[in-house]
Amino acid sequence: MSSGLPKLDVEGLESFIPEAEIQELLSKKTTDIKKVREIIAKSLDKNRLNPDEMATLLNADDPEIVEEIKEGARTLKKRIYGNRIVLFAPLYVGNDCINNCTYCGFRKSNLDVVRKTLTMKELEKEVTTLENRGHKRLILVYGEHPKYDADFIYDTVRTVYGTKSGNGEIRRVNINAAPFDVEGFRKIKSAGIGTFQVFQETYHQETYRAVHPSGLKANYLWRLFAFDRAMEAGIDDVGMGALIGLYNHKFEALSMLYHTIHLEEKFGVGPHTISFPRIEPAIGTDYANHPPYQTSDEDFMKMIAVIRLAVPYTGMILTAREPVKLRNEAIGYGISQIDAGSDIGVGAYAQEDEVSSDKKSQFVLSDNRSLDQVIGELCEADFLPSFCTGCYRLGRTGEHFMEFAKPGFVKRFCTPNAILTLTEYLLDYASPDTKQKGMAAIEREIKQIPDDNPQKATLLERLEQVKAGKRDLFF
Ligand code: SAM
Ligand code: SF4
Repeated sequence: MSSGLPKLDVEGLESFIPEAEIQELLSKKTTDIKKVREIIAKSLDKNRLNPDEMATLLNADDPEIVEEIKEGARTLKKRIYGNRIVLFAPLYVGNDCINNCTYCGFRKSNLDVVRKTLTMKELEKEVTTLENRGHKRLILVYGEHPKYDADFIYDTVRTVYGTKSGNGEIRRVNINAAPFDVEGFRKIKSAGIGTFQVFQETYHQETYRAVHPSGLKANYLWRLFAFDRAMEAGIDDVGMGALIGLYNHKFEALSMLYHTIHLEEKFGVGPHTISFPRIEPAIGTDYANHPPYQTSDEDFMKMIAVIRLAVPYTGMILTAREPVKLRNEAIGYGISQIDAGSDIGVGAYAQEDEVSSDKKSQFVLSDNRSLDQVIGELCEADFLPSFCTGCYRLGRTGEHFMEFAKPGFVKRFCTPNAILTLTEYLLDYASPDTKQKGMAAIEREIKQIPDDNPQKATLLERLEQVKAGKRDLFF
């Protein structure tokens, strides 16, 4: 049985992040536009970039070159992924924590935050509230604590899948929690999870030590090899990330490429998603108000475009930590998943106690729009919001890779599934205004499918079935 904290065994492990090599790569200046164009062309030809090429893009600061990089990312996004954007909500299960991450409102020494762990009954209420708003995909988030062991996480995932409300159900549960040993990961996988996210926070060892002074998280190698253990346990979809603001963002971006290459070489597959949250203010947490490597919007956007080109087959997540305008622009550079209607206080969706959400939150969000509002605005801006879980449900793991590598995959599976799941949302949950915008978006998408595409007739048939009350149809 897996219970309590895992025993940290890092014997014989050595970091695969070559710090000196990365610093050397980042010390060069990029002035050769021809080389940049060749690198962009390589990416548009569906190849992952190597560290030298990624560094060349990161080192560019001539506005003309930066614009070409951004244009490259926009082209790649349009050409391969189309205009779908997958929506999810975070659900914080518990904020007890034994660690002392200097940037986080949940750290053990923070006496200002109100601690709370949902009971299974409270969890059901949170899920019901989210289902009644139309959510189908959740990420469950936990502090690191002996009570959040693999058995507990397993139980919470099963509770989420087992909670239904009218037409509402959660069809994919992802996890963001402390890393486990192989046995723990195996147990959690058996609950039917989608992606397991573990952010390295910073790949720079000296900084890592300084911002993780105590607790299990102080062990750099245990965290660095988390995905090796997850993959050994059979979890195919892992979510990588770096917390931007702790150290040089270019160093972190390049390190994530080295991490990707490590996984590709060892397991034949890179991460399912990459995240790059920027540090936000957090209750009782002065560090978060003045992160030492604050990254400007401009540098941040360029980094997103470069990551898109460097690992063209990986999903990219941008959360509601970021403001609306920046999120909208970043979607154009290849962000494939965003959260919407998020509240990150523990128990905040059903709001059954007297404690306000911000006192139970890890940090402060910038985008506070409702799911309905986000969907309306995305449709209006020519995007196609999607709640699709088709690949995961049919065992097509690594779907982002297939979207990327298999010609026609997006047209055959992703777009029709986006249309079907958006229609469900519009019929069951949308406000009149969003319904109108959504229906117009669906019409626009259907028009773009050629009439001789055999899939079109089936899609139209299924749409009629959804309108007649059938749910959860997918390709
Ligand atoms: N406790 C687990 C852990 O640390 O791995 C689960 C993750 S934690 C609840 C979720 C993520 O939030 C962290 O990995 C970190 O990247 C991010 N985070 C922490 N403090 C933050 C802040 N002040 N602003 C933005 N993101 C933050
Ligand atoms: Fe705990 Fe995670 Fe916050 Fe660190 S980032 S204090 S481990 S919840």
